Amino acid sequence: MQTFDRLLDYGEAVEIILKNTPRSSAVGVPLSEARGLVLAEDLVAKFDSPPFDNSAVDGYALRSRDAGAGRVFRVVDEAPAGRPSKKKVGEGEAIKIFTGGVVPEGADAVVMVENTSGWGEEFELKKPARPGQNVRRSGEDVRAGEVILRAGTEIGAPEIALAASQGYAELPVFGRPRVVVLSTGSELVEPGERGLEPGEIYDSNSYALVAQAQEAGAVARRLYAASDDEGTLRSAVEEALSEADVVLTSGGVSVGEKDLVKAAMRDLGVEQVFWGINFKPGKPLFFGRREGVRVFGLPGNPVSAMVCFEVFVRPALMKMAGRREDARRPRIKVYFDEMVHNRVGRLHAIRVRLLRTGRGWRAESAGAQGSGLVSSLTKADALALIGPGAEVRPGEEVEAIVLREEVLLGQGARM
Ligand code: AMP
Ligand code: MG
Repeated sequence: MQTFDRLLDYGEAVEIILKNTPRSSAVGVPLSEARGLVLAEDLVAKFDSPPFDNSAVDGYALRSRDAGAGRVFRVVDEAPAGRPSKKKVGEGEAIKIFTGGVVPEGADAVVMVENTSGWGEEFELKKPARPGQNVRRSGEDVRAGEVILRAGTEIGAPEIALAASQGYAELPVFGRPRVVVLSTGSELVEPGERGLEPGEIYDSNSYALVAQAQEAGAVARRLYAASDDEGTLRSAVEEALSEADVVLTSGGVSVGEKDLVKAAMRDLGVEQVFWGINFKPGKPLFFGRREGVRVFGLPGNPVSAMVCFEVFVRPALMKMAGRREDARRPRIKVYFDEMVHNRVGRLHAIRVRLLRTGRGWRAESAGAQGSGLVSSLTKADALALIGPGAEVRPGEEVEAIVLREEVLLGQGARM
């Protein structure tokens, strides 16, 4: 039987993981797939935008110095959007123009049709016009050569609009990490496949981990649940390693006889970076690497697997994608109304609900804290971090990782 050499502290483990996890390399993605990704390079304007002086309204382009109230103009051409007029506007002349139409040569103002006698071959102006009136100047939005989006910007709809307006069809981004998830355990049955025989349970971890990885912006796929059999496990891990940037396994990584995952990893050339953390839930977490692939051996208990994902895997995926490690997982101070003891010698991340009070954020245990209690995570808003051996007094503040950011805005979705 193997035993843990030295358990790494939480902060140390996260640091080692991040140090061993590089950013994804930059790739070009089509605009339609860029939302939520992070720009890997500055984006520079290729030309002045708008590219030409154009009209902000429907009306007539004319010379402002002719444009006294009561003056009658002759309409010599039209300039709808996309079809510039080739004529030049002379004294007492006007060109019919629509929003986005190129302001014709000679004209320096556009009057709204509402301020004239109407559409026709001639019109009378009701209101004088100022120079530049209703003209959108070339370059007033963006100047050629200017950095319009900085590397590190998360791409949303406005960034996509701006890039498209400059003719970019693709954006240089940090690629989405490819994650492959593999559950292990001879007791596991596929949900939907059949009923359970004695001793069996449904595989929930691989589905949960795929969902968590997707939420973190990764492209994630589930392999299958491999039985605790050396051969099966080995070929499953091999398959996962061959196509992923990050492999997540669940189960089989502790000190039991059927904990074969580490052996399979070792045989397949995965170098162990660490095994064992001073953290609950999830003491047996394994982290390793093989060339460009990062491997997390997560514990089998569903809560341990999911909490370890949150605390150790998610920051790595965020870093790979060029985002802040704690993106969308704010840290806040919370207090409890009752005394909280941590009798284990490890940092304990406890599942709590958050309640806004006059004093700040009150945490309340989301229920029993056993690592097998799948339902408890559906009730948790945050993980409160209680130090080893700590006795937290009522009202004393501790740090918490918020899992549901919307709760901070008073918009918890729970009924
Ligand atoms: P292990 O780490 O393999 O010893 O598993 C610890 C506990 O987690 C056992 O009760 C397993 O049955 C359970 N478990 C392991 N894998 C899964 C899974 N994929 N889905 C749900 N429970 C699991
Ligand atoms: Mg197992």
